[in-house]
Amino acid sequence: MDQKGKIIIPEKEIRKRVEELAEQISRDYEGLNPIIITVLRGAVYFMVDLTRHLTIPHRIDFLAIASYGPATQTGVVRITKDLDLDIHNEHVLILEDIVDTGLTLHYLLRILKERGPASIKICAFLDRAAQRIANLNIDYKGFEIGEDFVVGYGLDREEKYRNLPYIMAVND
Ligand code: 5GP
Repeated sequence: MDQKGKIIIPEKEIRKRVEELAEQISRDYEGLNPIIITVLRGAVYFMVDLTRHLTIPHRIDFLAIASYGPATQTGVVRITKDLDLDIHNEHVLILEDIVDTGLTLHYLLRILKERGPASIKICAFLDRAAQRIANLNIDYKGFEIGEDFVVGYGLDREEKYRNLPYIMAVND
């Protein structure tokens, strides 16, 4: 990896925060047997680490989306890989890598709510709240970050750097 950049969230901090989130989610979802939905592909690393620390029964499922044109302009997305599980009457927690404008998740939430889940909440590893356009409530968040484009811990640049164990800001 020859990518130059600044490590803004080191591996140790990520591990600690993910464990804290898992504890909180385990408490809040006690007895609810939630379905943890991961939005492919960026949130996969987060999902694996988070669910490993959950102490409650849960199921996992995956969803892939593609935007019609730049998501930052419309937020209109299309599901390219749908869930395998039926979420009707189920407690759903969506895992995202980063919420920026929030338009993608806002649209996705609308689609999933139509399926009649018992509840639906969002857990974002990173939150760039300053960029938010959509009116979106993030129920659980790992870290808030600033403007810099980031890679690592599942986040890519042109499909590279997902496997970095830390979050790095790259601005070139
Ligand atoms: P939103 O609809 O919230 O603006 O878009 C969120 C999506 O944009 C994320 O799921 C991610 O794919 C992408 N994204 C936004 N900011 C970054 C960033 O700093 N780094 C990377 N790798 N992807 C980002």
